[in-house]
Amino acid sequence: MKILVISDIHGNLTALNAVLNDANSFDAVWCLGDLVGYGPDPNEVIEKIKTLPNLHCVIGNHDAATIGLINIEAFNYEAREALTWTQSALKPENYHYLENLPDRLDLENFTLAHGSPRFPVWEYLLDTKTATDNFAYFDNPYCCVGHSHLPIIYYLSDESVSAHLLIPDEHTQTALNPRMILNPGSVGQPRDRNPHASYAILDTDTNTWAYHRVAYDVAAVQQRMREAGLPERHITRLSNGW
Ligand code: ZN
Repeated sequence: MKILVISDIHGNLTALNAVLNDANSFDAVWCLGDLVGYGPDPNEVIEKIKTLPNLHCVIGNHDAATIGLINIEAFNYEAREALTWTQSALKPENYHYLENLPDRLDLENFTLAHGSPRFPVWEYLLDTKTATDNFAYFDNPYCCVGHSHLPIIYYLSDESVSAHLLIPDEHTQTALNPRMILNPGSVGQPRDRNPHASYAILDTDTNTWAYHRVAYDVAAVQQRMREAGLPERHITRLSNGW
């Protein structure tokens, strides 16, 4: 089975459509949260996500803040501006869709969470120490996370109890070896100085993870953000991927 793994779409429909076209054929979709926030298309993104086959989706911190589960005061000024705009733009049925998302899913062999298995909505896995601690918080061989917007893998080897960091090359198949925490990067707001939308294809037949990037029409998204009055900083960053 080929599973499209995506995260941190952040209301960017153009990037999501580019990923769906590029991935082309897949049997299921795992979405690791942050459907909304920052971008100009929160309704369109949720409505597209709902149509995807065999979807499993968890809630992200921006989704949770949009529906009032997290106080938006916990975010920086510009993120708050974008969240307030998203709250005002979101249709009731899409608000309810976010309300019904779980914060963590334990599937066969894989755990899904937005930030980390330990603190699913908020914790960032940005270093091997934090990643090491988190291997104690899921029983499956593998865990998929988003939140950092960085396409990286943490893994445990036989020789060491500490997690190692692996930065996969684009289009390279990484063999899955227990145990791993895998991040597909961000669809709608990459932060690794590469503005192209990021995603991964998990192949459960070959037991491999392949990470991909795809260009999209950034200027069109920036234009919609300007029309919506979203913060200039979030508009600018899409050009350079930070
Ligand atoms: Zn995010």
